[in-house]
Parts: sequence; C-alpha cells; structure tokens
Amino acid sequence: MAATAAMTFLMNTAQAGVVFGLPAAGLQGGIYRWDAAPRVINGNERSLDGGLRYSVSGGSLNTFRDQFSWTALPSSADFAAAVQSAFNAWTVVDPTTGLGTPLSFVFDSNSSVAGMTGGGVNTEGAEIDLIAATDATFWNPGNNVTQGETWFGGIGAPVTLTSGVPSYSFSQAISGVDIYINSNPGAVYSIDLFRRLLTHEIGHAIGLGDVEGSINPGAFIDDNFNASNPAATLNNSWAALVNPLDPSGSASLARYNIGGAAGAAGVNLLMESNGLGISAANPVTNLQPLTNDEFGTRQFLYPMLSAVPEPGTALMGLFGLAVLARRLRKPLR
Ligand SMILES: [Zn+2]
Repeated sequence: MAATAAMTFLMNTAQAGVVFGLPAAGLQGGIYRWDAAPRVINGNERSLDGGLRYSVSGGSLNTFRDQFSWTALPSSADFAAAVQSAFNAWTVVDPTTGLGTPLSFVFDSNSSVAGMTGGGVNTEGAEIDLIAATDATFWNPGNNVTQGETWFGGIGAPVTLTSGVPSYSFSQAISGVDIYINSNPGAVYSIDLFRRLLTHEIGHAIGLGDVEGSINPGAFIDDNFNASNPAATLNNSWAALVNPLDPSGSASLARYNIGGAAGAAGVNLLMESNGLGISAANPVTNLQPLTNDEFGTRQFLYPMLSAVPEPGTALMGLFGLAVLARRLRKPLR
C-alpha cells in the first residue's frame, strides 16, 4: 500500500505533465492509474467500470456546501452545477487532437466519506471522497488559505489500460482517493474559485501531479520543453504523441525539469499548484480550464486509440451511406 499526497496552495504556490509513480529516471515506472477493467480492492469496487464514484462529507451537496465560508452563498443549484462542472471538465474531448476519454464520474449517495483527521488517505468510502476539513496535512485549525490537498492509495498491481492493454507493466492501481478542502471559517470561497480548486484536485484524484519544478522536479512529461521559450513549449499539444498501447514507451516524449517555468508569462496550466493557472487567458470563470498539457497527461494515463470523429467526418460518413443506399437501390429501377 502506498500513499501519495498532492497539495495546492492556491494563494501561494502550484506544478505540467506530471504523474505519480515515476522512478528516478525515465517514464517506465509504476504509474498510478485507475484500472479500466473491473476491480475490487479490499472489498470495494475500485475501477473506471461504472464511472468513478464520489461522495461528500455531510452526505449531500447542500450539507457539503454549508461547511465552507462563501463570499456569497451559492444556491443549491449553483453549487451542484459547480461540482458537476469540476468533474465534467475532465471528461470533454480534447479540442486540439479530438481525443476523448472514457472517464466519467457519478455521485454516490450510498457511500459515506472515509478520511483521516489531520489529512492522509483512507481508501474506504467512495472511490473519491470530497471532505471539508479544518485540519489536514498542509493546514491546521485557524488557517485561512483557500486550498486543497489530495491523497490517494495504491496497490502494487498493474492495471488494464483504457486502450485495452491488459496488465500494463508500467502502472499500478489506485485504491481510493481523499480530497480535502480547507473549511476553516476564515477560508472564504467564491463559487468560481471553489470550482477551479476542485477541478485541480480532481486532476490529482485521477493521477496528475502538480506542475511546478519546485514540487516535482524532473518529473514533467513533454515533447519539446525549452527553458528559453516556456510559453511556446509548455503550451503546445502533445497528446497525439502518446503511444496508446505503451504510454511509457512513447518515442517522442521525455522527462524535463522545468524549474520555475510554470510561472513564466503565458504559461497558465490548471495543474499549477500556485494559482491553478488562473489568468486572463484562463480566467477563474472558465468552465473548461484544461490546457493542452492536461489533455496530454490525461491521454498518457488513460490512452484512447483514436480521436472522436469531427462533425465534418461524420457528415462525410452519412454522405457515403447515402451514396451506397442509392447504389443499392439502383438495380430495382
Ligand atoms: Zn495540486
């Protein structure tokens, strides 16, 4: 059993293509993923099968909401929409490559959250537990920073990749996730900030790490990072360079130490622990804050074999069908 933590200091600090479980060098480690094949760990269903189930402390979205302080209390509908948006952000088709995802998330009202006082992972509960906490690993009672931290457990067993590869060597199964969000009364959230923070923490819950070189030095996966031009080389799309049958063997990807480049002008990645990528180019109101880097890392962890057809392609398909139908009808004339 291994436990891994990822933290977010929204007001202070954040980290690009970072995953958990990389060895000292290279990409071929026991990288943490949710299993694409049905799996039970310690009696609990723990896989992408049926969607990743999440529960909230308090048991309902309203009681969860009411554990936090707000600049303006969101309505039940607005809060529910914000939580839904945070999960949905991870399920959309990558607009640049057309690569989709099998990830889905479902609210699990049957499982009570199971966390740890003072932070840390308890793999019981739902697959992802969302917990309001005044006392976690990275904050104590009285702390007023709007922040979250995410812990997950794993077992040293390989998973089936979403591309269908069984028992993929360079992987290990996630056994449960706890997301803690600071609920001290002095940590005051706007609904937009809460949604962005939760979206970032959900990234950790599926295996993405913080981007900053100060947090995960040397662990950034990219195709072309160049310290003298971080804005161009950290923002370009590389999801299509992932080998879906062997992500850790992707010939065009490598690890980089990006140092402080995540803080460079024009680099606004959701998985930056410092600031969550919030910027004029990626505003806190953005319901789709994933950038090329997060889409690339998602494809690395949960590879898809091919892109979703674009509308133009689908129309061509229909046109082809119509032509075929006419041909078939022809002998009848
Ligand atoms: Zn983080």
